[in-house]
Amino acid sequence: MPSPRFADVALPLPIEHPLTYKVPDSLQHRILPGMRVIVPIQKKVMTGYVTAVHQTSTLETDTTRGIKLLSVIDLPDAGPIFTQEMMDLSKWLSNYYCCSVGQAMQCAVPSGINIKTKKRYTLLTDQLSAGRFSDRQRKIVAELYRRGPLTSGQLARAVGAKALSNSLQSLVKRGILLEENLVADTSVSIKTEMHVRLVEDKIPGHDDLVEMQRRAPKQAAVYLDLLHGEPERRATELYEKHKANPATVKALVKKGLLSCEDRELLRAPEIAAVAGAQNKLTLNAEQQRAHDQIVSATDNREFQTFLLHGITGSGKTEVYLQVIEKVLKQGRDAIILVPEISLTPQTVGRFIARFKQDIAVLHSGLGAGERYDEWRRAQRGDVRIVVGARSAVFAPLPDVGIIIVDEEHDTSYKQTDTPRYHARDVAVMRAKSNNGVCVLGSATPSVESYYNSERGKSTRLELVERATKAKLPEVEILDMRIETRETGGQVLLSRKLEKEVTQRVNAGEQVILLLNRRGHSPFVLCPQCGWVASCNDCQVSLTYHASGGYLNCHYCNARKTVPQVCDECHFNPLIFMGVGTQKIEDYLKRSFPSARIERMDADSTSQKGGHARILGRFADGQIDILVGTQMIAKGHDYPGVTLVGVLNADSGLNMPDFRASENTFQLLTQVAGRAGRGNLPGKVIVQTYRPNHFAIAAAANHDYTTFFAQEIHYREGAAYPPLRRMANYAIESEDHQLAERATAALHRLVRQEIKNHDFQGVEILGPSPATIRRVKKKYRWNLAALSKSTKRLNTLARATKAAFTKEFPSPKVQLKIDIDPYGMF
Ligand code: ADP
Ligand code: ZN
Ligand code: ZN
Repeated sequence: MPSPRFADVALPLPIEHPLTYKVPDSLQHRILPGMRVIVPIQKKVMTGYVTAVHQTSTLETDTTRGIKLLSVIDLPDAGPIFTQEMMDLSKWLSNYYCCSVGQAMQCAVPSGINIKTKKRYTLLTDQLSAGRFSDRQRKIVAELYRRGPLTSGQLARAVGAKALSNSLQSLVKRGILLEENLVADTSVSIKTEMHVRLVEDKIPGHDDLVEMQRRAPKQAAVYLDLLHGEPERRATELYEKHKANPATVKALVKKGLLSCEDRELLRAPEIAAVAGAQNKLTLNAEQQRAHDQIVSATDNREFQTFLLHGITGSGKTEVYLQVIEKVLKQGRDAIILVPEISLTPQTVGRFIARFKQDIAVLHSGLGAGERYDEWRRAQRGDVRIVVGARSAVFAPLPDVGIIIVDEEHDTSYKQTDTPRYHARDVAVMRAKSNNGVCVLGSATPSVESYYNSERGKSTRLELVERATKAKLPEVEILDMRIETRETGGQVLLSRKLEKEVTQRVNAGEQVILLLNRRGHSPFVLCPQCGWVASCNDCQVSLTYHASGGYLNCHYCNARKTVPQVCDECHFNPLIFMGVGTQKIEDYLKRSFPSARIERMDADSTSQKGGHARILGRFADGQIDILVGTQMIAKGHDYPGVTLVGVLNADSGLNMPDFRASENTFQLLTQVAGRAGRGNLPGKVIVQTYRPNHFAIAAAANHDYTTFFAQEIHYREGAAYPPLRRMANYAIESEDHQLAERATAALHRLVRQEIKNHDFQGVEILGPSPATIRRVKKKYRWNLAALSKSTKRLNTLARATKAAFTKEFPSPKVQLKIDIDPYGMF
């Protein structure tokens, strides 16, 4: 086959199509789709991905357009890092979420891999054998011999050539050079450790060994140890054992008796195996039914999506574990997605206990280097299972038989910047293209997923009882309107909740209190003129943080000192209004002086391992009352918890979001599910000013079905998702007037494109200013398009984006398109 002379390269930039480059003769025999490639772009050099190679290109002959094709500079890797499957997935991602293929591909590899990876080459003198060497290769060998290991950049300079990858790759292939990935950014670097090895065909005779013992006893000790014991050892181990040092080893290497090599040190994940979880449990009848249905689908290698709807504590995790065991036996691999590993150490710990070395853990809480290591273990086939947060859906396992999305309703599965993908939807796509199975698990399925199961797009499996036979807790709704009337003042804890907390603490039981707002007080007010301390760059009030003593913007994270007097009228004292977790913590410490109280929110867990520390102490019974934000509601299983209090159930209901009720129902049901998992029954108290709201009432009754019936009725009324798909167009600019002009233009362009394509049934909502009109200095406007047809929404979004970019090429205004948007509008 003739060699490809052109390559299409996808770059991680917002450009519509991959760019065509010429492939220099020297690289034509190596270039393949899926490889990383170094190319020039706009006077810079960038890493991209080869999407296709060709023998001819129309661009080359199309001289009328005056296009001059640039050439590929180099191919940094020996082979492709993307399989065809992952390339197809990236293409789908880019189409669906309206980003470039390069941006989609970039998001499928761990961050850090591209920017600063360098390769380092070490000459293995003992591997040199007679053969053909080009001039360039001879120079490389000489350079490495003289100077020791060098990076590709250093070699290029020494040899005086730009691209050495051909010469280097062929030397690597012949085993003469050892190639290692180094990453300039130390946080992503591969840690290595020196290993020392006996050169087996150079073993000296008896007399020589005796001589060595006399003249160089340390060298002899090291050498004899390797000769009679394991022939390869970590250098540090030898140094310690024989009080030797690098010089000892170096001398032996020089004599040709030993060789050394840097071996990659894979950092172990921090999450510990959960004790006892290595043993399989006998599934109960419900679990068994769910298990059998999933396994029969994987057995048949047919794509299918399951919704595993199981109440909190129903034993979903045990079903996952046993299903995966079967999938591994079928010779296929598994991916498990969890919302956030630091918040779900127990779930992950159970997987580690069961599958041990077969598992890699990928998540954002790891350092970049650790994440990179785990990714490579999966790519090399060293592991069969990958557990991770959102981006683990792209884990490079070769034969994905099952993808499990635990707590599938969790909003952390949606990425908030480009590409704005939803890992649950990507999981379904990926399972489909692998003829695999996707299992979505939750006690509170998203309305989308439940709706799909109602319409037969997925198979619903129900677990309606707790696996341990523990009862679901009794939930009491506490009407704060009455409480406020009767006590006549600001109430943090109702009298009832206060009494219950006292009882539990006295009995040595544990309490969880949820307040979904961090900081001390969200509002610093002048009682004389009404001035409120606000962020300069965002249109929001600043939150007072007592620990640390500063004001903090929860949108841009700006910090300010606490003002002593009013900015406007100089009155003092100012009033610290509203309630956050810190204020509750203070209050609890005063009210329950003997109780051990801790707070868990983004502030108290900001250091690495913060979550694990607090959750570990809570599990050990060293904390009596744990107060925190929604992060305490995730899938924790602590049998000592007998009381859960929700301090303000309404906070989420007041959000301008069509999912406000759904989010509230999920949060309340999930946090309630933390109570009464052990031998003692649990109780939940929900403080609310809207006791009759259907989401609160349904959560109190543990009644998903009623919640869903009412919610879908409301969504049908407004034809909101999941009845139609939604695309959000956001305009952002620091310039107030430009933002308004761009918004008006966007509105016109969207309508124009709808007309151009003759798209019936696409509805536009807005434009309207965002709820928080200004964030990080930028004014923000939103416009939403709704349609039953995903294809229409995507086509419209692409066309509009292209038209908008033409009209507003200026970087001073941005259009961000979000397909299936979540959160604040
Ligand atoms: P979920 O993920 O559905 O909330 P978990 O998987 O955490 O539930 O299970 C809750 C508890 O029930 C765990 O302590 C688990 O060990 C236990 N469990 C699960 N399945 C069984 C079973 N078949 N027999 C006994 N205990 C079980
Ligand atoms: Zn004032
Ligand atoms: Zn701000």
